[in-house]
Amino acid sequence: MFDQLPAYADDPILGLFEVYKADPRPFKVNLGIGIYCDEAGQVPVLESVRAAREAGVGARGPSVYLPTEGGEAYRDAVRELVFGKNADDIVVVQTVAGTGALKVGADFLKGVLPDAAIWMPDPTWANHAAIFAGAGFRVENYPYYAKETGGFDLDGAVSALQKLQAGSVVLLHPCCHNPTGVDPTQAEWHALLDVIEQRGLLPFFDVAYQGFAHGVDEDAWAVRECVRRGIACLVASSFSKIFSLYGERVGALGVHAPKADKARLLGQLKLAIRRSYSCPPALGAALVEAVLSSPASNAQWRAELDAMRGRMREVRTSLHRKLGEALPGRDFGFLVAQNGMFSYSGLSAAQIEALRSRFGVYVVSSGRICVAGLNASNISHVCEALAEVCS
Ligand code: PLP
Repeated sequence: MFDQLPAYADDPILGLFEVYKADPRPFKVNLGIGIYCDEAGQVPVLESVRAAREAGVGARGPSVYLPTEGGEAYRDAVRELVFGKNADDIVVVQTVAGTGALKVGADFLKGVLPDAAIWMPDPTWANHAAIFAGAGFRVENYPYYAKETGGFDLDGAVSALQKLQAGSVVLLHPCCHNPTGVDPTQAEWHALLDVIEQRGLLPFFDVAYQGFAHGVDEDAWAVRECVRRGIACLVASSFSKIFSLYGERVGALGVHAPKADKARLLGQLKLAIRRSYSCPPALGAALVEAVLSSPASNAQWRAELDAMRGRMREVRTSLHRKLGEALPGRDFGFLVAQNGMFSYSGLSAAQIEALRSRFGVYVVSSGRICVAGLNASNISHVCEALAEVCS
């Protein structure tokens, strides 16, 4: 029965991490995996989260099941974080991190729109296609990244969306686009939302980096503008990176459906969760809820988020300057124009291979660089390596 199983082509990013871990060279640098590291090269424990943990959050009492949709206080706190104040008509459920939010949203939508296709930016996070194809969607792409300019292909995106059938689902990254780091400006978002509104399309926002581009509220702008316009939409939130709680699997799915009966909407989301993993994990959500709902902890967390964002900006500026000095005449402006943890470098397969074999610098095959893996102790080595393979 099981003798013809196809081999699983390991996730290329996680596979590269295994090769990196096995590399005995002391000077190796991992720019592959999407994890925020601090200046010391460590995954940080945020002080706001540590304080909640030390205050005993999540540690008291027996471990009981959470409600299928998650706890009410957590859902309220997340609703305000993502949608702002006065967003009571948005139905939020807790999920198993961002991936779980995408999966619950996909399963829910498949029930409501059984024949709809989902349109994703080209390129996008590799798991997007797998999650939606797994839920039975036809997966298509719309133009996003313009190779010639290294920027956003607004004309390509708008003309592709203009041709879609009403009810088509459109996946969007409101900030810190993974893998390119290229985000639309507010004017470009208006143009996208205009087409979405005119064509009757359904936006599905994936927010994995809220606060890593410009700020918590600024980065939710496109989502909130969509809601302000009265457009129905889904929003998957991940708290893996912005609370540095990767292993706790904390996230949420918000659904804005102005004409829906809210109790029924919640019921359908609960159905999708119940038959998938029954109910969400408790500890990480308790920590996020504690941090968000105390004004002092919330302010402390926002300051920590500002510091992470500031560090990534400094790394980008420094990389831009050092590469400009090493390779005069080349334009590395994209490094400072892009947002968040990732930069599309445009490196070729041969250059990526040379970086790994000659210099111990690990970059995924798309050429995506995780700038959050750089710090004062490794940036010069990486710049020298880049200058060497690019010259
Ligand atoms: N969406 C995007 C765009 C991501 O980059 C990631 C993680 O890398 C996720 C979703 C999934 O996040 P999580 O680890 O919370 O499932």
